[in-house]
Parts: sequence; structure tokens; C-alpha cells
Amino acid sequence: MAEFRPASPDQAQLLDELVAAGHLIPSGVPGVYGRGGDYEDVRMRFDAYVTRCATAAGEAPEVLRFPPVIPRKQIEDLGYLENFPHLAGTVFAFEGTEGQARAMAETAGRHEDWSEHQCMSDLVLMPAVCYPVYPAIGRRGPLPAGGVTIDPGGSYAFRHEPSGDPARLQMFHMRELVRIAEPETVQSWRDGWRDRALELLRGLGLDAHFDVAADPFFGRSGRMMAASQREQALKFEILVQIAGPEPTAIASFNYHQDHFSALYGITTADGATAHTACLGFGHERIVLALMKTHGLDVAAWPDEVRRELW
Ligand code: AMP
Ligand code: ZN
Repeated sequence: MAEFRPASPDQAQLLDELVAAGHLIPSGVPGVYGRGGDYEDVRMRFDAYVTRCATAAGEAPEVLRFPPVIPRKQIEDLGYLENFPHLAGTVFAFEGTEGQARAMAETAGRHEDWSEHQCMSDLVLMPAVCYPVYPAIGRRGPLPAGGVTIDPGGSYAFRHEPSGDPARLQMFHMRELVRIAEPETVQSWRDGWRDRALELLRGLGLDAHFDVAADPFFGRSGRMMAASQREQALKFEILVQIAGPEPTAIASFNYHQDHFSALYGITTADGATAHTACLGFGHERIVLALMKTHGLDVAAWPDEVRRELW
């Protein structure tokens, strides 16, 4: 499942153009790139545009920020390894003697497998930017009346899905917002943001539409999970064409019901189990979609688009 997915000819051509223009800086590992100044500028401006849209919609989310690693225990509690074993990245580290360190360095110096010298640490790479929010809110006790809206920012997430497609990264930024409240409040927030996000992305000239979607659950039982998720319309995605005709998700809108709140004991002001929803904008995919639509020279983008972002 996590083996390398080669690029289509369209994707390979777009990647070459992005590298030649200095927008992406290859690392040698597929799906891991540095970014040039213009690319990063657009990424940060898009993030600020989302914040302005939230304010304009009358939202004042509480800002919380977390590092791009989470405790291994949390991944275990969440059942992430049942659902997405192929996407997780686990942090290992050395805990041995001087002799073992020398052996490890020699093996590594020959570019051979040095994993036998490594121990599992307490950390995994962040799979989704909203994960640390739920235990943090659970620890506060019952929610205030009306619940909470949290802005965990545009932070790094890791997914082990190496690909030649410049829109499928292993390390990328996901801008999330999270709503935790009564079920009806959470559902209408999720649907409201789906519609607002479509408008704000179309306002940047993107030919976007939304559709019911499913997460990439692993294996045969995963296919049943995905079918049930679609049937209940728990996930929507906003899709655009980037390199070629294939639709690529640039934003997701997820209703988790009580999946997180039951685990972390998050209750409403009157003691019922709260529900949660989140949305995630894929920063890098949105910058790529904008570059594909308006050209690689950011200074020459249409005035209407520059007015929104600059
Ligand atoms: P998800 O939690 O899978 O719904 O992801 C949230 C958003 O992150 C998606 O809508 C995409 O825009 C973006 N995203 C997910 N996976 C990747 C990836 N491998 N590379 C780049 N962006 C991604
Ligand atoms: Zn989320």
C-alpha cells in the first residue's frame, strides 16, 4: 500500500516545471520538498485568507498550536493502526552503548539497514493537525454553553504515501479548524464551512466543486469502513484538477460524531457527550492548484486573485 506511486506524464511535467521555476526543491525522497519564497508567500497568504474568512463569518476560534509529533499512546488509543497502518510514521531513536553506536554508524555509513540499532520512541509523526486538540479540550472538563471552536493552525502532517505526483506529499501543511459542541451545532458548522470554503476557493479563480468522500482506510475491512462513511456523508471534499484530469482533494470537511469525544470524555455544558467536526485545507495542494490555474509567475496573476491574497 505504501509502495511508490509513479507520476503520470502530466504530473511529472508539472513537477519538472515547479522545480525549474524554483518553487519546489527536491530532497531526493519522493513527496518531500523544500519550497521557494514565492510558493511559501502564497501558502502563508492563503492561510491568512482563511483566518479573515472565519472572522468575516463571525467566528473567533481559540488559537492553539502543537508540534508535528504526537504521543504514540494517542495513536494507539485512537485505533489509527487499525484504520491507517500504511500511512503512519513512527519515530525511532538510539538508546545503546558506545560500541553499538559505532556499529550503527558503520552500517549506516555503508547505507545498509541500521534499524536493528534503533528503539521505538514515545512519538509518532503528526497524521492530522486536529488530533492534539481533543485530549486538550477533554482535560478542561465540560464545554462552555455553545461549545468551542479551535484553530490549531496550518501545521505539518505526515503520511507515508511516497509518490511522483507533486500534489501527493509525505510531509505537508494542513490548515484545520475544529468545532466541538452539540451534534446539530457541529453538523451545521461543518456544512456551513464546506459551502463557505467552496466560495473562498472559487473566489481565487479555482474551478472547484465538492463531493462526498471517504478516508483511505486500509485493506478489505477498510473498504467497508469507507462505504459506511460515504453512506452517512461523514466526509466531504473540495476537488480540483491539478496536473491532469484526475480530481484532487484540496480541502476536507469531517464529521466525527462521538469518535474523539467519547474517547476523551468531552461533554457539553449539560453533561451529554459532545460531537466533533473538523475541516482541513491542504496548503501545498492549494498553492499548486493556483499555480496551475494562474501560472508559475505569481506577480503576473490576475488582479482579482491578487486583491484577495495580497
Ligand atoms: P484528510 O485528513 O486526509 O482529509 O486531509 C486533509 C487535507 O490535506 C486534504 O483535503 C488534502 O488537501 C490534504 N492532503 C491529504 N493528503 C495529502 C498529501 N499526501 N499531500 C498533500 N496534501 C494532502
Ligand atoms: Zn481534523
